[in-house]
Amino acid sequence: MQHTRGLTTVVSTVSSNEFDTEDAFIRNLNPIHYSKRAQQINNNPRPTLKQPGAITPPVIWGRNIHSTLVASLFSIGVVSLAPCLVVFFWIALDWFEGSLLHTGLSFLSNDKLAWVALYSPQFHLPDFVAYVAWFLFQAGLYTYLPGPLGTGQLTPAGYQLQVPSYTNGFSAWLITNVLFVSLCILDVLDPAIIAKHWSGLLLSANIMGFLLSFFAYFKAHFFPTHRSDLKLSSSHAYDFYMGIEFNPRFGSTWDFKLFTNGRPGIVAWTLIDLSFIAWQYQTHGYVSNSIVIATILHAIYVIDFFVNEDWYLRTLDIAHDHFGYYLAWGSLVWLPSMYTLQTQYLARYPMDLSWPVAAAILGVGVAGYIIFRSVNWQKDVVRRTNGECLIWGKKAEVLVFDYVTQDGGKHKSLLLCSGWWGLSRHANYLGDLILSYSMCATCGLKHILPWFYAIFMTILLLHRCHRDEQRCAVKYGQQWEKYVARVPWKLLPGVY
Ligand code: NDP
Repeated sequence: MQHTRGLTTVVSTVSSNEFDTEDAFIRNLNPIHYSKRAQQINNNPRPTLKQPGAITPPVIWGRNIHSTLVASLFSIGVVSLAPCLVVFFWIALDWFEGSLLHTGLSFLSNDKLAWVALYSPQFHLPDFVAYVAWFLFQAGLYTYLPGPLGTGQLTPAGYQLQVPSYTNGFSAWLITNVLFVSLCILDVLDPAIIAKHWSGLLLSANIMGFLLSFFAYFKAHFFPTHRSDLKLSSSHAYDFYMGIEFNPRFGSTWDFKLFTNGRPGIVAWTLIDLSFIAWQYQTHGYVSNSIVIATILHAIYVIDFFVNEDWYLRTLDIAHDHFGYYLAWGSLVWLPSMYTLQTQYLARYPMDLSWPVAAAILGVGVAGYIIFRSVNWQKDVVRRTNGECLIWGKKAEVLVFDYVTQDGGKHKSLLLCSGWWGLSRHANYLGDLILSYSMCATCGLKHILPWFYAIFMTILLLHRCHRDEQRCAVKYGQQWEKYVARVPWKLLPGVY
C-alpha cells in the first residue's frame, strides 16, 4: 500500500485496519513474547493512535520491547559479569603489573574463593561515606547552579521535555576541579587521595550503581514520571538492564538520566586522572610525558562534553535510551573505572615517549577530536536552524522525513546528507575512535589492558551503528532506505 504524505512518499507494508493500535501491531509481530505483564503495562495508559485509519504503521520506535531468551541471558550475563570485569582489571593493575594473562592464569590455577578473598578490593566505610558525599555534592551543583534552558528531543510518546537550568555542567566541572586543586594547594587534601583509595571508591561506586539501577527499576513500576513513555518487555532481566522509564524525574524537571549520565562519573574523569598523576609523582619522583598527554586528551573530551551539554540532549543516550542498569551503573562505575585505565596504568608503570612520538600521538588525538566535534556540530546546527545553514560553505542538503509519535502527532525531521554526513552515516564515531586509539597509544604496546578503552569503543560504536539504524528504520519506515541509498557508507567511506 502506498501513501503520499507531505514531502515524502511512505510505503506502508501494514494495513491500518489490521493494526489500528500499537499493541495489536506488537502482538502480531511477536505473539509469544508479548507477555501478559508487558501487555498490561504497555496497554494500559498508553494512548492509541488517534486515527484508526492512520497511514503509517503504529509507532514502536524507541527501546526494543521484543525480548527473547537470548536477550534475557545476555542481560543477566552483562549485569553480573561487568562488575567482575571491573574488579578483575583493578586486580591485574594492582597485583599483576597490568598483565591480564598472568591475572587470568593465577585465577585459574588457584582455589577460586581463596583467590577472590585475597585479591578483591575491601569495603571501607569512610570510602563509601566519601563517595556518597561526592554524589550528593554533584547533585547539589546540578540542582542549584544556574544555566541556560535546554530543550530535549520529542520522545516516542510525544513529550518535548524541558531541562531548566540543568545544562550547567561546565560550571559544575569547573567548580569541582578548581575546588579540588585549591584544597590540594592548601594542603587540606593529598592530591593522590583518589588514587590511594581507588579500590574502596570502586566498590562504593558499584554499590551506588546497583542501588540506582534497582531504584530506576522499581520507580518505573510504582511511580513512573511519564507513563506513556514506559517500555516493558516480557523479560525482567532485559528491563532491568536496558531500563523501562525514558525520562525518570523528581517532580517535573529533575532528570535522573541527565544527572547520572552527565555528572558524577564524567566530572570525576579528570579528577581521577589528576590524582593518578600526583600518585605517579609521589611514587616515582617525576611525571611522565605519556600520562600528561593521556590526561590532556581526556580533558579535551570531557570539557567538550560540558561546553556542548545542550547538544548531548539530542544524542542517543538522552534522546532514545531508557534509564536502567546500562546507563545508571555504566555511568557511575564503568565510565570512571574503565575509561581512565590509561592513567591508572601509567601512574604505576610510567612510559617515557620520545618527543616526536609524543607529538604525533597528541596531534592525531587532536585531529580525531576535531573530526568528532565538527561532525557532531554539523548535525546539531542543521537540526537547530531547520536546515537554514551552511555546511562546508554550501547550503545544507537535507532530506525531510515524516514520523509519528504515540499520541498520533505527526512531525518532521531533517536528515543532513552533505558535509561529513554526506560521506558516511556515522562519521562522528570515526573521529571518536581516532581519539580513543590515540589515548591508548600513550601506554605503549607492552600490555593490552590500557588499550581496553579503544577496543571497547570500537565494539560499542559498531554496535551503535547497527542499533541506531534499526531504530531509525522503524521510526522513518521506507524513507530511511532513501537516506541509506543517498549515503551508502556506515562508517568509513569506501570500506564499511
Ligand atoms: P548521534 O549523535 O549520531 O545520534 C544519532 C541520532 O541522530 C539518530 O538516532 C537520529 O536520531 C539522528 N540522525 C541520524 N542521522 C542523521 C543525519 N544525517 N542528520 C541529522 N540527524 C541524524 O549518535 P550518538 O548519540 O550515538 O553519539 C553522539 C556522539 O557521542 C558521537 O560522537 C559518539 O562518538 C559519542 N559517544 C561517546 C560515547 C562514550 O562512551 N565515549 C558513547 C556513545 C557515543 P533522530 O531520531 O533524531 O532522527
